[in-house]
Amino acid sequence: MIVMKFGGTSVEDSDAIRKVIEIVRTELHRNPIVFVSACAGVTNQLLKVADLSAAGKKDEANDYITAIRTRHEKLVDELIHSELPKNYLKGKISVYAHELKNLSQAISVIGEITGRSRDTIASYGERLSSMIIAQAMEESSLKSMLVDAREFMITNDSFTKAVPIFPVVEERAKKLIEPLVLNGYVVVTQGFIGATQSGITTTIGRGGSDYSASIIGSLLDAAEIQIWTDVDGVLTADPSIIPGARRIKRMSFNEASELAYFGARVLHPKTILPAIEKNIPVYVRNSRNPSYQGTLIRRSDGNEECIAKSIAYKERTTLLNIESSRMFLAPDFLEAIFSVFSKYHTIAHAVATSEVSVTVAIEDTSRLDDIKREISEFAEITSSGGKAIVCVVGENIRNNPGVVGRIFSSLRDIRINMISQGASEINIGFVVDDDDIEEAVRRLHNELFSNTSSQELSSEIFD
Ligand code: ADP
Ligand code: ASP
Ligand code: MG
Repeated sequence: MIVMKFGGTSVEDSDAIRKVIEIVRTELHRNPIVFVSACAGVTNQLLKVADLSAAGKKDEANDYITAIRTRHEKLVDELIHSELPKNYLKGKISVYAHELKNLSQAISVIGEITGRSRDTIASYGERLSSMIIAQAMEESSLKSMLVDAREFMITNDSFTKAVPIFPVVEERAKKLIEPLVLNGYVVVTQGFIGATQSGITTTIGRGGSDYSASIIGSLLDAAEIQIWTDVDGVLTADPSIIPGARRIKRMSFNEASELAYFGARVLHPKTILPAIEKNIPVYVRNSRNPSYQGTLIRRSDGNEECIAKSIAYKERTTLLNIESSRMFLAPDFLEAIFSVFSKYHTIAHAVATSEVSVTVAIEDTSRLDDIKREISEFAEITSSGGKAIVCVVGENIRNNPGVVGRIFSSLRDIRINMISQGASEINIGFVVDDDDIEEAVRRLHNELFSNTSSQELSSEIFD
């Protein structure tokens, strides 16, 4: 059994969906379970519907609903030719559009939106794409079965970032998915969405389809997890900043985890953890270029060939500087600080301490006022926004202290606000002003990955 996940651009129109079907066909002998995202852009449009409705802009919200409806009807027209399923799907699309309109109407009356309603609205994207894709497979003579992820991806009720309850997910997935796979069906299901134990729709966070796929891959002991997207694999940097970024042929679980955590959008930050637990290889591949091998992410054998593999960045970060002459040498100073972060569910993405202060980089500032208020009871705290964490990742960084010098000398005149080397010693992160991201990433890429650099070692693992 293998798990294949196709992202938004891989299912954005009928041509893309036909490609997906052909890719799945080549893997039939391996019993694929297929996770799909909403068609590219649809989740954003649905969330727009939610926001516009809450702002009382019902007509604008309706325009988005109509656009979503028309786009999916077009998909049905182009992909489904048998009369009965065509009418069935058109009917379903019409029902969903009405449900969305009713939700929008109700939200606009209340004038505010809860996480619960946002999740319900967002779920329509994956529900629409998956039902069309499953039927399109049938039309192309693939025996497929649509399974609603809300039947097995059971989560808590932290709406918009719900946490799967693994034992329940495992039990349900084994009961629902496994028998179908064993009977030769291609199971098609939705990434990103789930439901609470009492059946209320949830989502597991933006970009979460990768995570849905890896959870099920791990719980069902898949032989492989494939993440199909719109680039040739994991690249040495974000291609929107470095158009010439190179494909990485192989990388370790830890490298991929760190990269995703520090902002490389190609993988949801939690994707790799379930794969590590069962040592399941993860492939990142291009659905527009399926003959290409993509990137293999696997357990490191300790012989990683090159020093650095990739550069990631996380924009819109805020730095907090916390000082307390009174408490600094107190053994519980750090505990006091981090219990406040924990209380407000705010993740510290990087931390540095000096003799007199602690600096913490955070991304989520929704509870910043509360954090500041509580910390100011025992320390002085200041914040500065508009920052970015840039991070260089590579298993061999720990064995090559010289690379640190190369990194920072290439950034000479760029203002560095903070430096932190991860405890795993496979990443070096630092904080720059948001405006300097592009320049910093470009210089680092040039230093670490250009052909003229002293990276001959790496030639075998990059394209
Ligand atoms: P999907 O919809 O398939 O999940 P995403 O848009 O979430 O696709 O992720 C793929 C995108 O991630 C690429 O189009 C690319 O622009 C971006 N990206 C950022 N950093 C990297 C990187 N290091 N390697 C590959 N892609 C990256
Ligand atoms: N459709 C969801 C999103 O856009 C989930 C995903 O694509 O992974 O965030
Ligand atoms: Mg994604």
